Amino acid sequence: MRQKFVAGNWKMYKTCAGAKAFADEFKAIFPGSAAKVAVMAPFTQLCTLVEAFKGTDVHVGAQNMHFADEGAYTGEISAPMLKEVGIEYCVIGHSERRQYFGETDETVNKKLVKALSVDILPILCVGESLETREAEKQNEFVKAQIVADFAGISAADAERITVAYEPIWAIGTGKTASPEQAQEMCAYIRSVLAELYGAEVAGRIIIQYGGSVKPANAKELMSQPDIDGALVGGASLKPADFLAIINY
Ligand code: PEP
Repeated sequence: MRQKFVAGNWKMYKTCAGAKAFADEFKAIFPGSAAKVAVMAPFTQLCTLVEAFKGTDVHVGAQNMHFADEGAYTGEISAPMLKEVGIEYCVIGHSERRQYFGETDETVNKKLVKALSVDILPILCVGESLETREAEKQNEFVKAQIVADFAGISAADAERITVAYEPIWAIGTGKTASPEQAQEMCAYIRSVLAELYGAEVAGRIIIQYGGSVKPANAKELMSQPDIDGALVGGASLKPADFLAIINY
């Protein structure tokens, strides 16, 4: 049995004061959950959130990191720096980073390797554009991402990676993949992981769906057999909506 995992991706929203207000409000309404819960926040809010969620079942993650431990990389943050302040998770290869910040499968792969080496658990984002889906090339596109992103990663480490299937056309657009489309791709991703690592390992890897998940559609998406949770953008910014998704 795979544990459900619901993570919020706050993107470039909130301030430290806003993050603290979210944590206080969320803690007051969150009774705990069978699902794992995490919020992935901007760098400046991480210490605030680690402190605010100390002693709770809410985990804190970053949204990006560099693949080097340190160096002349102005403006970047490394995995050891995140680890030092108590960060447990990191989103890697979000489509917005691939699209706007030149993230490639090669850098994504290096970041996965680095995160795992310091025991930060990655949430790896993959997913196709609308153009790719309309050309019915989504399977080969996502397969190529998975194969390249997991290159050189052992089976033991692969199991520590959460894969988030996020069709780009469904992110922030209000357009959700249908439960059937999402299930079909998540099952396909699991079959690709099975080709790489065997069915047993693939059967243990958590695969989330992301793309306009909200309280109203969380249940039908997360009840699919190969969808083990959600990566939630916009709807994770409000404690009540985020909780409603967790409690679908
Ligand atoms: C995301 O940021 O990963 C995401 C899925 O955003 P939204 O839920 O707003 O579509």
